[in-house]
Amino acid sequence: MAFPLTGEPLALDLINTRSDSPDGLSDHLATVEALDAWLRIQADRLPRPAAPPTEADLAAVLRLREAADTVVDHVLRGVEPPAPALRALSEADRLAPPYRTLRWRDSGLTVATERAGDDRATLLALLADAVIDLLAGPVHSVRACEGPGCRLLFLPAHPRRRWCSPELCGNRVRVARYYRRHKP
Ligand SMILES: [Zn+2]
Repeated sequence: MAFPLTGEPLALDLINTRSDSPDGLSDHLATVEALDAWLRIQADRLPRPAAPPTEADLAAVLRLREAADTVVDHVLRGVEPPAPALRALSEADRLAPPYRTLRWRDSGLTVATERAGDDRATLLALLADAVIDLLAGPVHSVRACEGPGCRLLFLPAHPRRRWCSPELCGNRVRVARYYRRHKP
């Protein structure tokens, strides 16, 4: 299962699972298997649910993605996002509030942050958290890829970054430019 762009802030990875890319508009979270594969890729940022995701989990994640996409898109354009999308994110953030657990291990105290909710609630709350972190933080630095027909979003670590991927869109643009220049 291939995803167009991962390794960006979690909120952008989520939104980018459905995005125009040079290969057309496609939904990379169209099935529960795809969601399962995406969660495996995000294993360092999201806990692995005890059981494989269900259709209900997928539907909930897709609703959250829709809200995230809508709000980020509006904020990037400087336009007020629709209230239901803001509400959906705020409500998801409340589904599994974090709490801390103290344990004594190997003669030292450990503090673990856990979530008060089942696997689905925890997943939705963590995703909503990531989106709200982005909105409260670096959202205005988010850019869309300049590749033709590509709308993948990224947070450039370098101010000159223009492409989702230099191999993919960067190359396409260079190749197109080359053919334009060498057209008889
Ligand atoms: Zn691109």
